[in-house]
Amino acid sequence: MTENIPVEIAGAGPAGLAAAITLARAGRPVIVHEAQPEVGCRFKCDLQGLENWTTRQDALVVLQELGITTDFKRLPCHHGTAFDAWGQAYGIDSHEPLFYMVERGHGPDTLDTALFHQALALGAEVRFNSRVQHVQGPAIFDTGPKAADAIAVGYHFDTRMPDGFWAICDDTLAPQGYAYLLVMGGKGTVKSCMFTGFKQEAHYVQRTVEAFKHLVGLEMIDPRPHGGVGNFRIPLTARSGAHAVVGEQAGFQDTLWGFGMRSAVISGVLAARSLLEGSDYDRLWQRMLGELMATAVLNRALYGLLGNRGYRWLLRHRENHSDARELLHRYYHPSYVKRLLAPLARRRFQSQRKDESCNHVDCSCVWCRHGRELHT
Ligand SMILES: Cc1cc2nc3c(=O)[nH]c(=O)nc-3n(C[C@H](O)[C@H](O)[C@H](O)COP(=O)(O)OP(=O)(O)OC[C@H]3O[C@@H](n4cnc5c(N)ncnc54)[C@H](O)[C@@H]3O)c2cc1C
Repeated sequence: MTENIPVEIAGAGPAGLAAAITLARAGRPVIVHEAQPEVGCRFKCDLQGLENWTTRQDALVVLQELGITTDFKRLPCHHGTAFDAWGQAYGIDSHEPLFYMVERGHGPDTLDTALFHQALALGAEVRFNSRVQHVQGPAIFDTGPKAADAIAVGYHFDTRMPDGFWAICDDTLAPQGYAYLLVMGGKGTVKSCMFTGFKQEAHYVQRTVEAFKHLVGLEMIDPRPHGGVGNFRIPLTARSGAHAVVGEQAGFQDTLWGFGMRSAVISGVLAARSLLEGSDYDRLWQRMLGELMATAVLNRALYGLLGNRGYRWLLRHRENHSDARELLHRYYHPSYVKRLLAPLARRRFQSQRKDESCNHVDCSCVWCRHGRELHT
């Protein structure tokens, strides 16, 4: 009976754990292999945003309806501030939470720990320090990003600052991306999220820290460096041989700004369902994620052309709209014009697979550091 053969899952990221939860709930034996000694090692105690704008339904309700726990600490974020390159502040206001700030890593309150505990409670086995090289039976692959299309680099720190979020759209701090500062419960992260210029990351991080000190009085107690990469691409197929590939390993990410947690979880659930039902995984993710991803690629291609004056125009345009969540919902969804422009955008935005400015020799840029972490 194939139902009694355990499904092996490579990687205990949100995508792999969501798959394990779905399979275990259906009574299927599951073994999750995690290369690192704990869940969430890639993120340490990072703060991240679970976006709440791609669906009208609240993100937490979406997770609950997928059967995924929401038993993690979170901060609903309604109000924040964005700055343009000239230091002008713009209010970011939303009636419903724009996103939920969550903690990543292996701490007691993190998203990763909540998923891990749910998977265990449902009967999944999780093996740490277990790097998958080969699989024999049914399997799902969730081994994270395989290239750097963007990097986010900066610090984790303790602080006495109030909870909140701040962003700066300025190519001299974060080329073609954005600099951000998140604070929750006395912990913070400040990052430059850049889509090019990776080799000058140290310079951009320094400028980002200085800008936030100047604009909002950033206070960092015991700063610890942290960074990571993002890999975005719309795969032709999210299968490797007979096996489903989920999360960032498949390229499921928000190409515009890098909000990948939701698509990771969704793809994990869909991969598990396809195994349980014998349905076509590629069809499932294309139906649920395909159009959103195609729109994000177009948005990325346009955003990459804007430059500082364009970001300022965008922020002013945002101020004329009362609700940021509503506006982002529209940006992230397809329209007739966006569908027409999509082929052009796909040609303009190609997943990098590597950073052209990096020769990967004797290099300590974030991509090379991350590659070493992945392969040791
Ligand atoms: C700095 C930074 C900030 C971010 N901020 C946000 C944000 O604010 N909002 C948001 O939505 N997204 C954010 N993201 C993206 C988001 O974190 C990822 O998209 C998401 O974690 C992807 O989940 P995953 O399960 O696909 O992969 P991962 O979380 O990378 O999990 C993959 C796991 O597989 C393990 N592994 C690798 N190889 C093997 C192997 N051979 N065998 C066994 N295990 C293996 C790894 O150790 C890892 O634990 C951010 C990313 C970065 C880098």
